[in-house]
Amino acid sequence: MRGVSFLSFVFPKFCVACGSYDYFSEIIAVCKPCTKKHYLPQKQNPEPNQVKHPIDRFVFYDQAFYLQRRGHFEKTLFQALKFENERPLAKYFCLGQRALAKLLESDPPDLVTLVPSSPKSGPRPYHSAYAFLTKWKNLWKIRGDTSLRKVSVDKQSSLGFESRFFHAKKAFGFAKSDRIIAGLHVLIVDDIFTTGATVNEIARLYKQAGVRKVTCVVLLLSGGD
Ligand SMILES: [Zn+2]
Repeated sequence: MRGVSFLSFVFPKFCVACGSYDYFSEIIAVCKPCTKKHYLPQKQNPEPNQVKHPIDRFVFYDQAFYLQRRGHFEKTLFQALKFENERPLAKYFCLGQRALAKLLESDPPDLVTLVPSSPKSGPRPYHSAYAFLTKWKNLWKIRGDTSLRKVSVDKQSSLGFESRFFHAKKAFGFAKSDRIIAGLHVLIVDDIFTTGATVNEIARLYKQAGVRKVTCVVLLLSGGD
């Protein structure tokens, strides 16, 4: 991105997109003019935030929402978020979350889970959706489900096509099977919705475990670029 200097990463008070400083850049790492230019036009979507159900497969989640569409601007900012640990920038990707929360008020979630990005335990890399997760845990006063695990797929590349195909179905699992989650409304949070295959697989696991409803919320809907 033109205009991004090394300094803007060291001092995140400056807009990560254009390098200027204002109240917005101080709080969300993107200045007011850049936010107006890129974020506000996205709000004029006639069907706000709803991800259309794919028709080519069975869908296990009940509804899916996104906060922003991923265009070139969002893509570049998102890379910065992943690689530079730009925590203030994570707030830019929470814009619109209050309006979105209103859509869930009639049937609030009971439990929230973050799509695991790594099969390793211990100190985890910063998840782009972590700021959003924290906000919504507090907003709904719900706990996070820490039982979802990404099953290691390290040896996947050495497998044949058929094994890989079936292996994909087992990419996630629960560490504990004795939890009582029947009848709950589970919220799945992830950073990007591309095909929805990942959240759909996780939704399937939860539905199998007896949950009543699964809602997915992602920061970015891919396909705007
Ligand atoms: Zn700017």
